Amino acid sequence: MSTSPTISFIGAGNMASAIIGGMLDSGFQAANIWVSAPDDNHLQSIRKQFGVSVTTDNRYCAEQADMVILAVKPQVMADVCQDIAPVVQNTRPLMVSIAAGLEAATLDEWLGGGLPLVRVMPNTPSLVGKGAAGLYANDQVKDRQKAMVESVFSSIGSALWVEEESLLHAVTALSGSGPAYFFLMLEALEEAATDAGIASETARALAIQTMAGAAEMAGRSEHDPGQLKRNVMSPGGTTEQAIRTFEEGGLRDLVKKAYAAAYQRSGEMS
Ligand code: NAD
Repeated sequence: MSTSPTISFIGAGNMASAIIGGMLDSGFQAANIWVSAPDDNHLQSIRKQFGVSVTTDNRYCAEQADMVILAVKPQVMADVCQDIAPVVQNTRPLMVSIAAGLEAATLDEWLGGGLPLVRVMPNTPSLVGKGAAGLYANDQVKDRQKAMVESVFSSIGSALWVEEESLLHAVTALSGSGPAYFFLMLEALEEAATDAGIASETARALAIQTMAGAAEMAGRSEHDPGQLKRNVMSPGGTTEQAIRTFEEGGLRDLVKKAYAAAYQRSGEMS
């Protein structure tokens, strides 16, 4: 008999597909994965692509599981949770929500109360296996269950715990919204280089590779980003001119202001 946990997804969309793809790549077995959703293209394509078991019955799906991942849009979450509540109150799996803005206490109430529950704030690069997720566990979650969630979400990128649920707002403003900050930088760099005469496809490819290379260096280096930046700046050189222009133009304060705006909005939306 298999001792691997059975993991059920409620919802068969982009995030469920990305997580399942990452799980299978990192050694989870399709035989231990269930997915439920209304009978639509999502459900059928997930079955064909990954060979997982599928059903249109959310209760049946939840009943199979050691861990249930709620991967539906926030607007349908109350209905979904209230529907599966009688089943999960009986089987008591670990519940995991990836929905933005829905608090653990609210989800727990919809699920009938007292269940181990983890909230995950993933981001869009999860869809290409390069996500950065913040995780929060309520006080019912056991260490072995935390390890199980971590192994699932680290299959699509980095998975890091926060101690307080309110810190998920800080995660949202950093890694949740963050991909768009870097896309903005790519857009601006591409425009600037195109104005200087480089073909736009060439400018974009160079900008993207520069960002990816800088990220890889920052991730691997023993130096902090400030030191890495100084390493590129020779006195009187081109980089020094550009960095001085950024600093004098207030980029650092602007980034802090943009972060604070996202942080505040995340709080307002929960
Ligand atoms: P999606 O629209 O691609 O998928 C939603 C899925 O839910 C679909 O398969 C749909 O058929 C299914 N569904 C709808 N009603 C249902 C019901 N009553 N029962 C069961 N399944 C039902 O959405 P997504 O992008 O995968 O997002 C899923 C969750 O992840 C959302 O809560 C979203 O906030 C969160 N999230 C997504 C991202 C992202 O990058 N896409 C990032 C962070 C958080």
